[in-house]
Amino acid sequence: MYSKRIDGRGFDELRKMEAKIGVVESADGSAMFKIGDTIAIAAVRGPRDLHPKFMQNPKRGTLRCNYNMMSFSVDERIRPGPSRRSREISLVTENALMPAVNLSDFPNAVVDVFVEIVQADAGTRCAGICAASLALADAGIPMRDMVCAVSVGKVGDKILVDLNKHEEDYEEGCSDMPVAMLPGRDEISLLQLDGKMKKEEIAEALELAKKSCEKILEVQRNALMEKYKNG
Ligand code: UDP
Repeated sequence: MYSKRIDGRGFDELRKMEAKIGVVESADGSAMFKIGDTIAIAAVRGPRDLHPKFMQNPKRGTLRCNYNMMSFSVDERIRPGPSRRSREISLVTENALMPAVNLSDFPNAVVDVFVEIVQADAGTRCAGICAASLALADAGIPMRDMVCAVSVGKVGDKILVDLNKHEEDYEEGCSDMPVAMLPGRDEISLLQLDGKMKKEEIAEALELAKKSCEKILEVQRNALMEKYKNG
């Protein structure tokens, strides 16, 4: 039984969110997305010529993502450099963003997205995707939709949203399901499941993810509006 969340939130309640555009001056586009104690910064470079040339696609530009957790982002220092986990998350981030970007006007070019997790309390791949989507919009990359992402899952006997690290480590069992959505197109671009859930539970969790993505979209939209309000 998981009758009360450790941090007192409702089961359908997201942690406090904050988003900001233009946090890395040297990048073509950038954003910060914070949810609870998880903070992601995304920086976009490009479109620019892709090298080596044999990797170029003459039909459209290439989206390339790199996810990295900074050494000091958690209490136990993380070894710097790529790992199996960071490679996997870079790939799923790329796949989650791909349906939203339209790179057909940029043949042979690459758009690089660098996601840095500066502080981690679970849900980092989702926070990274939210930040990256904002950074791509900030860079002026043509987009079909925003991408919103959140982790849903089952802790003990409860279906809930936006698990923190304590919940992910819950002794009596936890299933974690990161989801990314294109809310305007009603499409899912990322769905992973770490653990076990019944079919009905997955359906319930997906419904919760959809409602939560609407709240995330509002935060993203406000951050973009804030930028244009300030010129
Ligand atoms: N984590 C950690 N050390 C690591 C990797 C992850 O302490 O080397 C923590 C961090 O808080 C992270 C959480 O474990 O957010 C869950 O990691 P997971 O691989 O499930 O991905 P995430 O939920 O962050 O997308």
